[in-house]
Amino acid sequence: MSLDRFGRNINYLRISLTDKCNLRCVYCMPEDMTFRPRAELMQDDEIDRLVQLFAGLGFRKIRLTGGEPTVRHNVVDIVRRIAHTPGIETVAMTTNGLLLDKLARPLADAGLKRVNISIDTLNPEKFNKITRWGKVEDVWTGIESTQQAGLEVKLNAVVVRNYNDKEDVVDLARLTLAHPWQVRFIEMMPFGDVADFQQAGIVSQAELMTTISAELGPLSPVNNGELDGEAQLYRLDGAPGTIGFISSVTQPFCASCTRVRLTADGRLRLCLLREKEVDLLTPLRDGATNDDLKAIIEDGIWWKPWGHKLEEHIIPLNRVMSEIGG
Ligand code: SAM
Ligand code: SF4
Repeated sequence: MSLDRFGRNINYLRISLTDKCNLRCVYCMPEDMTFRPRAELMQDDEIDRLVQLFAGLGFRKIRLTGGEPTVRHNVVDIVRRIAHTPGIETVAMTTNGLLLDKLARPLADAGLKRVNISIDTLNPEKFNKITRWGKVEDVWTGIESTQQAGLEVKLNAVVVRNYNDKEDVVDLARLTLAHPWQVRFIEMMPFGDVADFQQAGIVSQAELMTTISAELGPLSPVNNGELDGEAQLYRLDGAPGTIGFISSVTQPFCASCTRVRLTADGRLRLCLLREKEVDLLTPLRDGATNDDLKAIIEDGIWWKPWGHKLEEHIIPLNRVMSEIGG
């Protein structure tokens, strides 16, 4: 078990497989984003070794993210190896879905269990504008392939004022009336070079709930308001699906946070919205033993921060979202 100094049991690791992406979402990275050279990223065997160490420290759940995890060379083999690591119970992925038409089946066969697919609007023009060049039809194809492969699917939407904050939100919420899906709305968080844009465009959970219920009727809490992971869940009357809100900015869920992140360049990021990181890749490459690395990880986790400092205008500037792994 890996405890931090607040008594939280940290057992969930999100791994960014690459900082690269086949889209350039306006809320995630600048259009002229430069990516790290491959040699600076964790190699496959380095990921394996770190996953084994985390499993030995009581980690049970891994989520692969990025950048776009499906553009990582060997992604299917990486999933297979993680899924077969003793101690790891679940391997999930967060993806933009563009490559899932070909990859969903092999990923499922390799042991992937769940996929969160990002889709910020159903409107093709707006999707193209938000992602700077994406085609929403490709995401739909990816969603269908993922379901056909028997994987559990959730949909994620980041809401940006004047891009997708009105009828787009209602259209996405309406999907839960027809499908047993979880559609989750994520409050935009500020990072690095994109922070001014993100802070100007944030739409709060309170506002989203008003927009949705004005069109589709009341939203009733699911599970007596208990969090599902990081999401507060609600249901429209008679809906088979649920609507989730992930509101890290206006309603942080630090008390129930069980996760840390591994950036593609092998830094342990202890809180998404705080800059503090612990370098694991350099000692690993310098010959550290497993015991040395475990001690570095345990010490980092012990000091995992509590709470963001956005209200004090302290914004994490050292990386943008795609480099951390959302
Ligand atoms: N490329 C994959 C995708 O888009 O799903 C995985 C990586 S992406 C960084 C992970 C999640 O972070 C996505 O759901 C994305 O919408 C979300 N995200 C990106 N930038 C964000 C921001 N500034 N605030 C909140 N969520 C953000
Ligand atoms: Fe790429 Fe995901 Fe960031 Fe969009 S949110 S640019 S798909 S990493």
